[in-house]
Amino acid sequence: MQKDSFLKFKNLIKKTKTIVITTHWSPDGDAMGSSLALYNYLIKLGKSVKVVVPNAYPEFLNFLPGNKQVIIHQKNEAKVEKLINAADLIFTLDFNSFKRIEKLGEIIAKTSAPIVLIDHHQQPDNYATYYFHDVNACSTCELIYELIAGMGDKKLIDKKIAACLYTGLMTDTGSFRYPSVTAKTHLVISELLKTGMIPTDIHSAVYDTYSYERLKLLGYLLSEKMELVKDLPAAYFAITEKELKKFNYQKGDTEGIVNYPFSINGIKVCAMFNESEEGYIKISFRSKGKIDVNKFAREHFNGGGHINAAGGKSTLSLQETVNKFNALAKTLF
Ligand code: 5GP
Ligand code: MN
Repeated sequence: MQKDSFLKFKNLIKKTKTIVITTHWSPDGDAMGSSLALYNYLIKLGKSVKVVVPNAYPEFLNFLPGNKQVIIHQKNEAKVEKLINAADLIFTLDFNSFKRIEKLGEIIAKTSAPIVLIDHHQQPDNYATYYFHDVNACSTCELIYELIAGMGDKKLIDKKIAACLYTGLMTDTGSFRYPSVTAKTHLVISELLKTGMIPTDIHSAVYDTYSYERLKLLGYLLSEKMELVKDLPAAYFAITEKELKKFNYQKGDTEGIVNYPFSINGIKVCAMFNESEEGYIKISFRSKGKIDVNKFAREHFNGGGHINAAGGKSTLSLQETVNKFNALAKTLF
């Protein structure tokens, strides 16, 4: 979708009644923020809207306005399939390959409703009817803001929508630290603040709601589990399911921890390997500058993402996965 076709797009929305919004596996702040911002906006237009997500998301996102109506596919398969089949329009937000929504992708692939992809990750697959895709956007929330404003509806952005958008902008930029932050990002924030939304409240809801065990887990990982890659400016954590259980792991408890080794002078790549409940190793990669972890994750770990932040999966054991990473890490530099 070119930016000048926003108004045409508005006409399409005018004609639709029943809309489904979905986002990626293990939804994060940008995934839920963009989905619920769009939800709250479309509700204001009088549409019948449902947000369906593939699996559960961290509890600290439950404060987002509209959270109560989100339906989790893993827990309500039949209901979600019905909703998708009844939709006139489907939005897929913050991802760009059906692989990222697992079984939900098979259902959406079979429907005849037009699909709108809104995303900022690298290399989108070719499945949508309309694309609003920009790898230079700091977050999908930034794109949702642009879409709503582009359709002439900036005035409809209220406190609730602003809270959702601010959450994604804040979490996907490491609280406005990453190179993806631009003048535009701050202009969007400035507009959001005019609604009366209080950034401190959002920051507190996301970052000051750790459990005691979650903070203990962070301490343990930093003191006992952080490893350096031999002769390279790279560091990683490898965490077993047993360790996670010991700290009463809840979804989202390891979010952000992958970045900590960047505080060490010179470190350019960070990685985290997690034995997940899904039975594979969940991987996170982070990098600085031109080091492309999207390419690395795609080529070697069945994943993808952004140049400086990507994820992947491994069906090898935790130790074998770490060995593979150690052997390949030099190709990143
Ligand atoms: P995280 O490490 O926080 O899970 O993910 C970092 C970035 O990579 C996010 O933008 C996320 O959407 C993307 N990502 C995470 N896991 C995967 C994956 O398995 N496949 C792809 N294509 N992207 C991923
Ligand atoms: Mn995002």
